[in-house]
Amino acid sequence: MRKLFTALVALSSVAVAWGGEAGGAGAEAKARLQFITRVRVLLDRGRQFPISSSGSALYVRPSEKADWLAFPNTVTLKPDGDGIALHGAWGTTRFLGPITLRAGGTPDVPLVSGARRFAGAIRAHRSGDKITLVNILPLEDYVAATVGAEMPASWELEALKAQAVLSRTFALNRLSRPRARTYDLVATVSDQAYAGVTRLSPRAREATRVTLGEYLAVTGRPILAHFHARCGGATTPGLAVWGHGLSFPGARCSYCLSHPARWDAAFPIATFRNIFNIPMDGRLGLEFTREPVSRRTLWARTGTVSVRLETLRRLLGPSVLKSGRLVEVEQQGDKVVVRGEGHGHGVGMCQWGANDLARRGAGYREILGRFFAGATLTGGGKREGIAQLDLSAPTELF
Ligand SMILES: [Zn+2]
Repeated sequence: MRKLFTALVALSSVAVAWGGEAGGAGAEAKARLQFITRVRVLLDRGRQFPISSSGSALYVRPSEKADWLAFPNTVTLKPDGDGIALHGAWGTTRFLGPITLRAGGTPDVPLVSGARRFAGAIRAHRSGDKITLVNILPLEDYVAATVGAEMPASWELEALKAQAVLSRTFALNRLSRPRARTYDLVATVSDQAYAGVTRLSPRAREATRVTLGEYLAVTGRPILAHFHARCGGATTPGLAVWGHGLSFPGARCSYCLSHPARWDAAFPIATFRNIFNIPMDGRLGLEFTREPVSRRTLWARTGTVSVRLETLRRLLGPSVLKSGRLVEVEQQGDKVVVRGEGHGHGVGMCQWGANDLARRGAGYREILGRFFAGATLTGGGKREGIAQLDLSAPTELF
């Protein structure tokens, strides 16, 4: 337990040692690296990726035990036979299996892929005829990056701290049940928005640093900590929205009540006929059922077919059907017009609500307590909860 704590607070010193000559980290630094929790984030799948280093060179390691090989600082990755080829100014180099890339120079020199910049390393795998890119980086760096991507840097520090705890909690939960063999999380809102260090701000780093190691737990385990942009007046228990999972009571949100974010969207009737399997001459007859406390609409039903609103959001596009909190639904000619309020699934912390609470003087613990009644804030200074996780199995960072 003590070792993990030491490793967490020693991230910066480890990084200094790691940033030296490629492959030349000393034995002491390597021993420390073994206890750093690291996350693997799926970035992309595609047939071609340009990757460059902001430093003087780019280093590539073809296997866990191999030495790092130095390459010019800009390469293009492409599938090649069963392996991966690196193309660049020198020509082409082929590798049979997955490869790991990192920037040279100092440890905080990021890798660049497209418009995004990434700390840590990137591992490239073959997946069918495509290449899968996975960013591998220390947990706390990932947390800071997600805070930067999930909340504006100008928001209240206490809200950013609440977000940091949730982002860390979410990641720890995913680490205990990774999404795939080769990655733990995805870089989209299906898990958490993540754009590498592109949107990392000093305030996001500060919020992460002062909550170092803290996460929300129930019976000692990190919860799947959900959050959303705006609840629309009250949050909703996860069980009511998804029908499964650990659930927290819905909480009223005064900010969203006083600043309703209304939206509307129109869909072709044919889309609904397909989803609900209604023949063209059949009556659409859409009905919605609401959850009594939050008045959030949870189900859409027509005839004998019922579809969860969250399923409907996924099918119609969550950026179009912005929430499951519907105010009005009406048929206009060959369209169904939907009006609603809020943004997101409505489960867990309302981000706008959190910022409003912080502006009124609430600390991050109070904010979290409001949206996750019954959970325990653990880790942090005492670190006792972390020992209960199965996340500290010795593992090299990259
Ligand atoms: Zn709210």
